[in-house]
Amino acid sequence: MMDVTLVDLKKDFPILARPINGHRLVYLDSAATTQKPQVVIDAEVDFYTQHNANVLRSVHTLAEEATTLFQNARHTVATFVGATRPEEIVFTRGTTESLNLVARGFADKFLKPGDEIVVSPMEHHSNLIPWQQAAKRTGAKLRYIELSPDGQITLEAAQAAIGDHTRMVAVSHVSNVLGTINPVAEIAELAHRVNAVLVVDAAQSVPHQPIDVSQLGADFLAFSGHKMCGPTGIGVLWGRYPLLVESDPVIYGGEMITYVDRETATWADLPEKFEGGTPNIAGAVGLAAAIHYLEGVGMERIQSHTQELGEMAFDRLQAIPGVTVYGPKRPHSAVVAFNVNRVHPHDVAQVFDSLGVAIRAGHHCAQPLMQWLGVGSTARASFYLYNDHQDIEALAHAIEETKRYFRQ
Ligand code: PMP
Repeated sequence: MMDVTLVDLKKDFPILARPINGHRLVYLDSAATTQKPQVVIDAEVDFYTQHNANVLRSVHTLAEEATTLFQNARHTVATFVGATRPEEIVFTRGTTESLNLVARGFADKFLKPGDEIVVSPMEHHSNLIPWQQAAKRTGAKLRYIELSPDGQITLEAAQAAIGDHTRMVAVSHVSNVLGTINPVAEIAELAHRVNAVLVVDAAQSVPHQPIDVSQLGADFLAFSGHKMCGPTGIGVLWGRYPLLVESDPVIYGGEMITYVDRETATWADLPEKFEGGTPNIAGAVGLAAAIHYLEGVGMERIQSHTQELGEMAFDRLQAIPGVTVYGPKRPHSAVVAFNVNRVHPHDVAQVFDSLGVAIRAGHHCAQPLMQWLGVGSTARASFYLYNDHQDIEALAHAIEETKRYFRQ
């Protein structure tokens, strides 16, 4: 049963009070980016109005305050995902940069011709193109885990793809289109049995459920602050300490070195080795505020609330004649992709917008998945902790209005 106390959270998000086209804003695009609670906005404003300075450089009061806030943010993230030490947390711009960092810093160094990188057809481009390119650079080959007809990764299919030549496996924890929740811990076991490294794109899971990296069995985990109530431009790469130590830096410049002479340089310790240049300090502070906010609500509660909304929306849309819904029925995460028959998804999204309902339409940065589904694009509604039953009703109503508009 829906956790009714979560419904009150809407008031924490000032933007949700803004009318859109004369209607209440029904924000169903959180898989693209989430809205920000006032506490996160305040944390960024407080940083810039009270503590702004560069980090890890100067010794003046503001610089020390900024450095403390920045490193505290790293501790907050480390505890949030169960990292064994804060040095395992590398701040990046987001999931995309985190995954590219693994491809450049780890895969390029260790892959050889004949090695295999296992991926799935449901991957977001940011967990696919870095591997395509790493394969081209190193002579490794891509291998695909084939999906079940309803868009799941079965263990049999994973087992068929992961073999003696597999050196890396890169899969999403939760699909940003199908709403599939992948059996990452079991895939980790299969990968580790052949000494392969598991990279998890957790962009759509870390915001929605408690994550403990040691239980998950991942070797690298990537996620974005902006999909979990935090600011844009800040994200995380978590890696197992020895693997990060072995990886090469990919951004060269200030603060990532211990010594530089005319010809050579040596690298700083973790995590600075990967954080060349001035980091997104205010972003890290905002992300920590977002994590404190989510923890205050409770990750278990968020998980049951958003999964319930996803499953409820799946059922509700599937029951509407002329609507095709994609992905597995159960379990289904907080993302529901659909098409209204004979209406282009962009037209669907436009009618929705005229009613104040914000959804995404397009290929969702997952073109190989669109090819697998046999469609060019879909509409997608996605939920977060501030959504409720009324928002699902608004979604269903918007579909009826779309059908009426296009005279179906
Ligand atoms: N992977 C998945 C599953 C995603 O949903 C997204 C964001 N749509 C990304 C990766 C990329 O995240 P970012 O744009 O924040 O780097």
